[in-house]
Amino acid sequence: MSHFCGVNDSYPVSPPRAWAEIDLAALRKNLEHARHASGGELMLVVKAGAYGHGLEEVAKAMASQQIAFFGVANVGEARRIRSAGVETPIYLLGPTWAGEREEIVARDWTACLSSVEEAEHFDRLAAAAGKRIKVHLAVDTGMGRGGFLVGQIPGLMGSLERLEHLEIEGVGSHLPSADEDPDFTRTQIETYHGIIVELGGAERFKWRHLLNSAGLLGYERGVCNLARPGLMLYGVSPLPGYQQQLANVMTLKSRITLLRTLPAGHGVSYGRQFVTTRPTRVATVGIGYGDGYPRHVSGQAADVWIAGRRCPILGRVTMDQIMVDVTAAGDVAEGDEVEMIGANIPVAEIAEKAGTIPWEIFTGITPRVLRCYFG
Ligand SMILES: *Cc1c(COP(=O)(O)O)cnc(C)c1O
Repeated sequence: MSHFCGVNDSYPVSPPRAWAEIDLAALRKNLEHARHASGGELMLVVKAGAYGHGLEEVAKAMASQQIAFFGVANVGEARRIRSAGVETPIYLLGPTWAGEREEIVARDWTACLSSVEEAEHFDRLAAAAGKRIKVHLAVDTGMGRGGFLVGQIPGLMGSLERLEHLEIEGVGSHLPSADEDPDFTRTQIETYHGIIVELGGAERFKWRHLLNSAGLLGYERGVCNLARPGLMLYGVSPLPGYQQQLANVMTLKSRITLLRTLPAGHGVSYGRQFVTTRPTRVATVGIGYGDGYPRHVSGQAADVWIAGRRCPILGRVTMDQIMVDVTAAGDVAEGDEVEMIGANIPVAEIAEKAGTIPWEIFTGITPRVLRCYFG
């Protein structure tokens, strides 16, 4: 099934060279799976353009799904969600700069705090705006990226209580290695629980959140009542053994732009690292690293999917084009669709061959790639 939607108005015979078909029904299905697995409520992590799936489109499509927050990386992403007409609460996952806080207070976005100075600044701004704002405490239980350190927890609530314009409605922390180190992660979950107790107990905070996708899929939620899934919503499990439970969301596609037969002994692509050993039917395909398809898969035996079968990439990935061996693919023609990443060619496989992670492949897909939505 093709969901091609990129026909150019003036010259309708010129489709885009590369596009991503995004299945919103699959996204909703993964969301329901996350909700079920969490046993609580969800913050949908939509930072970095919803992991390359399109921030506004994903936020609009998911706004009606009864989620507690959208999680974004920065104020710019928060603005884009609001400009798209979406009113769901927004949580800023990272630290805020002083100059951004007036807008955060004015627009009721939820910040997480890493220091008492930050809390005092928010309190002053809220007082000036004549309101009481909701904030969360970030606690660093092992990520080393932000939050109060465990040693700062004793007495913390005492020093924050005098800030009358802040309502501390949540406590969050982050797991650095839920997909790599179960022992550390279990200890971290206990540490988090201990911190909640030390801060006054679970009932004191409306939101307690620690689990990302790997945490949500692989661990007990304990004292948490809000999970922050990202990757799993987009159909990829960071832990082995859960992939079949998730539905594929994005299919990155291109087309054959040229078909030729090269004789034996002919080099293919830059550096001539691949040389044919027999007459080879070679398809040139209109996608490259300029679209975010990773150049690092060059020479790593990566495949694409054409007409129901895997075909190997030959030589290096170039900026706008790749070459594929279609000798065994039977009846293929110029203009035929090629799946680069999707249900048949998992993003995790391409990421591994490129020496990276699915998160980076998704977020690396460039604006040149048209995003098409269905479902
Ligand atoms: C990105 C992020 C998440 C989502 O992580 P996934 O592994 O994609 O599920 C959750 N929490 C925080 C703080 C993040 O920065």
